[in-house]
Amino acid sequence: MGFQLTASDYAEYIRRAYKKINENGEYVTELDLATGDGDHWSNLNMGFTKLNECSDSLSKMTVSDEMKEIGKIMMSVIGGSSGVLYGSAYLAAAKAIKGHETIDAEGLCSILSAMLDAIIQRGQAKEGFKTMIDSLAPAVKVFKECIENGTDEKELCDKVKKAAEDGAENTKNMEAVRGRATYQADKGIGHLDPGAVTMSYQIEVLMDFVKEKIR
Ligand code: ADP
Ligand code: MG
Repeated sequence: MGFQLTASDYAEYIRRAYKKINENGEYVTELDLATGDGDHWSNLNMGFTKLNECSDSLSKMTVSDEMKEIGKIMMSVIGGSSGVLYGSAYLAAAKAIKGHETIDAEGLCSILSAMLDAIIQRGQAKEGFKTMIDSLAPAVKVFKECIENGTDEKELCDKVKKAAEDGAENTKNMEAVRGRATYQADKGIGHLDPGAVTMSYQIEVLMDFVKEKIR
C-alpha cells in the first residue's frame, strides 16, 4: 500500500519541477526584483535546466546517489545563496535515504526534514525570517504530523502541498532577517519572498506527482 518512488520516478519529478519553474520566470523575477537582486529565477532555472538534461542518467542511479548528484549539480550550477542552500539540502537528503531502494512516505518525510535542517544550518536562518524555510518548514511539520496520525496518503499529499503554499503566502507580511531583502528600507514587507515561492512550486509538483503514484 502507499507509494514507493524509484530513482526513475524522482527523475520524472525533476522534469516536472523544471517545467513548473521554467514557466514562471516572469513572475518570480518580478518578486525578486522587489526584494532582492532579480536573479533568483534565472539561477534556479539554470540549475533545473541542467537537472532536466541529466534526468536520464539520474534515473539509473540509486536514490541516494541520485540525491547526491542533484546536490552537486545544484551547488555548481545555481550560484547565489540558493545554490549553496539547495546543494547542501540535497547532499543531506542523500544521507537520509542511504541504503533505501525506494522512497516511501517515511523516506520522503526524512528527506524533506533533512533538507530543512541542512538549509537552516547552512544559512543560519529560521522560520519567520522571510526565506525559503517559511515554505519548507510548515510542509515538514504537517508531513510529520500526518505520518504520526496515520493520515491517508492522498490526504497527506494535499495537506503538505497546502502547508507549503500557505507558508510561501505568509512571507508577504514578514520582515526579512536574512538575505538581500534585509537591504530594502521596508525589509520586503508587502512582498512575497521569491525563494519561498519557488520552494512551494517544488513541493506542490512533488506532492501532486506522489499522489499519482499511490497504489
Ligand atoms: P542571493 O540572495 O544570493 O541573490 P538567490 O537570488 O539565488 O540568492 O536566492 C534568494 C532566495 O534565497 C531568497 O528569496 C530566500 O528565500 C533564500 N535565502 C537567502 N538567504 C537565505 C538564508 N540565509 N537562509 C535561507 N534562505 C535564504
Ligand atoms: Mg539573488
